[in-house]
Amino acid sequence: MSSHFVVECQDCGHQTPYSPTSSACPRCDSQWRQATYDYKTLSQSLPLQLPGRTFDLWRYHELLPVRTPNPELSLGEGGTPLIRAANLGMMLGCPHIYIKDERQGPTSSFKDRQAAVTIAALAEAGITEIVIASTGNVAISYSAYAARAGIKLWAFVTSLVPLVKMREVALYGTQLVKVTGNYDQAKQVAAEFARQRGLYLDRGVRSIPTVESMKTIAFEVAEQLTSFLGSPAGSLDGNKHPTSPLHSPDWYIQAVSGGLGPVGVMKGFDELEELELVDRVPAFANIQAAGCAPMVHAWKDNKATAEPVRTPRTHIATLATGDPGRTYTYLRERMLNKFGGLFDSVTDQEAFRAMHVVAKMEGISVEPATAVAFAGLIKLVRSGEIKPTDVVVINCTGHTVPVEQSVLGEDWVHRVDLPREAYEGAEIPEDGLLAALNHVSVDRYPRILIADDHPHVRRLIKRILQAQGNYTLFEAVDGQAAVDLSQKEKPDLIILDLMMPELDGFSVLDALKNDPDTANIPVIVVTAKELTNQEKERLNGQIQHLMQKGDFISEELLEEVRSLVN
Ligand SMILES: *Cc1c(COP(=O)(O)O)cnc(C)c1O
Ligand SMILES: [Zn+2]
Repeated sequence: MSSHFVVECQDCGHQTPYSPTSSACPRCDSQWRQATYDYKTLSQSLPLQLPGRTFDLWRYHELLPVRTPNPELSLGEGGTPLIRAANLGMMLGCPHIYIKDERQGPTSSFKDRQAAVTIAALAEAGITEIVIASTGNVAISYSAYAARAGIKLWAFVTSLVPLVKMREVALYGTQLVKVTGNYDQAKQVAAEFARQRGLYLDRGVRSIPTVESMKTIAFEVAEQLTSFLGSPAGSLDGNKHPTSPLHSPDWYIQAVSGGLGPVGVMKGFDELEELELVDRVPAFANIQAAGCAPMVHAWKDNKATAEPVRTPRTHIATLATGDPGRTYTYLRERMLNKFGGLFDSVTDQEAFRAMHVVAKMEGISVEPATAVAFAGLIKLVRSGEIKPTDVVVINCTGHTVPVEQSVLGEDWVHRVDLPREAYEGAEIPEDGLLAALNHVSVDRYPRILIADDHPHVRRLIKRILQAQGNYTLFEAVDGQAAVDLSQKEKPDLIILDLMMPELDGFSVLDALKNDPDTANIPVIVVTAKELTNQEKERLNGQIQHLMQKGDFISEELLEEVRSLVN
């Protein structure tokens, strides 16, 4: 039977039909092969067919290595939302940040694409038993799809993988093998096991269905961005194909372990360009955990091959691929020749902080591995690598269930201790209950007054503070309200705007300093105005810190606040 695609060797160019059981080029034995399709025909037919189709992964089935998609195996993969990160964008001064919410896949990570396509291809080929190695999420995803397809799965994981993830894998009926060693060693053990038993081994980035599955992220993002930003067709500024109907972002950001995601997403954008559906491709920002960042080290040293990290030093098990092998070399070449972009790393601490920011600002709870990408975003905006006008898509790769204690730290729950009698079933008078509630410690948080006549500035400052600490906040909409509230609430700190109608910031300061009750409250002035020397003189000795609006970034404000109230 002829197929809609062939497998082409990336080393010698030899083409063969696809067979899941052949893992290397018959001519040169290379394992680096990729699927190629009849793009010429597809560029005519596909654009006409897309509009009538469901928005899920199989929408693009002509570009996937499965002959007949089987709806019986589907769990609703793909078609995840693209969400505009308005609050994060406001904090960072980048209005075009979009989150591709892969948490909304069937098992809450973007590995669901990989599992859905791989299991479909293997089921189609009649394969009934397979072996994988995983840093956690692949095991969960493949387990779910393998269970559905009646395929027996052997999953090799390292002992770093959180227990809750292992238990989920076991629940699906997978044969779970815990390897005490690092991930690269677990992969070797899995490969040897598969070889001895003659079983299909998923080779990650070197398996055809895995790379093909990840392309669908690019396809979906281009369609979704176009519904946000409109079609670029007809616009003349630098447009290579003035008829291309779909939008590419300027940046695609992802947390990277083995690098399958970026390899696949690159291929997706490549194909969109080949099909003349987009006029350009994004730059890639590949972010690793600093404790296991072989690609970043090699990139920064301008090396074409990455030195493996033998002992990963990160708590983020999902990202602990120490030896990226040829994947790094491949990504680097593609980025230097076509895509552009960079590799960078963030610390576990930065990732945990980003987890708080994303949860508290956007209502999105992510696993630490995903937070690495968000911490990377923050870092790249701060360094100016990502420009305020850039359109950025960040792959929100996975959900955190459950949140680990180490991420929250102490004091993450309020306690209400009812009197002993309550346990014993006795009625307690209502005031007894209220007395217990009084111990809920909300009131012990530092109290901060924000005085600014612009509601959006108050909102921004509030969000920045709430995202990274516990504060009791008051808002004053003008100068008089600032003075009144300061006297009434005696805040621990005042964040004050200078330019307010009627009573301006200078007069507020005078009033505060003239009242012994408020004279000693520290003040941070935030102003949009370039101050004259005379004005600076007036503030001298009256305030603790002066900050320019517009270019103040959250970290600076937070550090000031922390140093003044704690
Ligand atoms: C697998 C995984 C990554 C890393 O992706 P690669 O493409 O394999 O480098 C990042 N985040 C999550 C949640 C993952 O499961
Ligand atoms: Zn070959």
